[in-house]
Amino acid sequence: MYNELNTSTRILMGPGPSDAHPRVLKAMSTPLIGHLDPEFVTIMDEVKTMVQDTFITKNHLTFVVSAPGSAGMETCLVNLLEPGDDAIICINGVFGGRMADIAERCGANVYKIEKEWGTVVTPEDVKKALEKCPKPKLLALVHAETSTGALQPLKEISDLVHNAGGLLMVDAVTSYCGVELKVDEWGVDAIYTGTQKCLSAPPGLSPVSFSDRAVKALENRKTKVQSWFLDLSLVKNYWGGAKRAYHHTAPVSSVYALRESLRIVLEEGLENRWKRHQEVHQVLKSKLEALGFKYLVEEPYRLPNLNSVFLPEGNDEGLIRSKLLNEYNIEVGGGLGAFAGKIWRVGIMGESCTLNHVNMLVSALEDMKE
Ligand code: PLP
Repeated sequence: MYNELNTSTRILMGPGPSDAHPRVLKAMSTPLIGHLDPEFVTIMDEVKTMVQDTFITKNHLTFVVSAPGSAGMETCLVNLLEPGDDAIICINGVFGGRMADIAERCGANVYKIEKEWGTVVTPEDVKKALEKCPKPKLLALVHAETSTGALQPLKEISDLVHNAGGLLMVDAVTSYCGVELKVDEWGVDAIYTGTQKCLSAPPGLSPVSFSDRAVKALENRKTKVQSWFLDLSLVKNYWGGAKRAYHHTAPVSSVYALRESLRIVLEEGLENRWKRHQEVHQVLKSKLEALGFKYLVEEPYRLPNLNSVFLPEGNDEGLIRSKLLNEYNIEVGGGLGAFAGKIWRVGIMGESCTLNHVNMLVSALEDMKE
């Protein structure tokens, strides 16, 4: 016999998932209804509008992929790229690398802009890449690189890509609802995010949005999208068609949770939410620095919601991290890829972005020192 599910009550301060608001957990336990029930269709319409509001876009093709952030990434790339297309992919951490891998699997000619981890891509880097690849179908980059804690400026790069006739594709998994993000104003053509970071909903869904320019590129495809599940020409009839047609069975309870988390974001207001993340970050930063931690990323490219820090000399990061989890119920993230075993990634995202969270972490660290 298996025991009834009974997990520890963790304080989530890693790279995601973050703590979920009780209202979100309660929404998940709402009784199921059919995924084509008119009431569920209304819920989908509301979710779509709230995703548009939080991306700050009027993009008609805005919806939610029924799978995690990586599927949102794949949705953008497999729909926009055809074999033989040129694509510029910026890599300054794990997730840029993942985008390049997918773009290659699409049969695109991938031109990589590779930057040291912890730094960002500059307009000069993009100008140089455009000399080698003057007519890219798209340039893709990560707004908030979760493996390093770097925040990528987008506006200037957006202008450069558009002047070259290409589309700008952005990974907003860790930035969405935590730092300033303005899809229409910044000219982002394809964007995807996840639910488990600053939105504070459970993992497993990926809101995405495509500009009219990107939709035109979809309409002009010469070949079929190689993925049936992610092919937007099929999915869009389910999320936005005049008459909803069955495509797949939507994860009803997860959509309930997403709806509630979006309501919470809009009640707080995006600007207030960005400000809260910045203010709590400043407190966390001064406390961590007082304990001897050093930031990986230089200002002004430091993400407020994902703090990548080197531990003070002589500390075993794995040992302290597992003590934090096992003895204090606090989760922080270890390093990824090149930074595995070297840094911590301390997340203060959404519901996990409070002074209370900062105090719990810092008190636990001080307690361990005694
Ligand atoms: N992109 C970034 C920047 C991420 O941080 C993550 C996940 O941490 C992903 C993509 C992939 O999202 P998921 O793990 O939900 O598939």
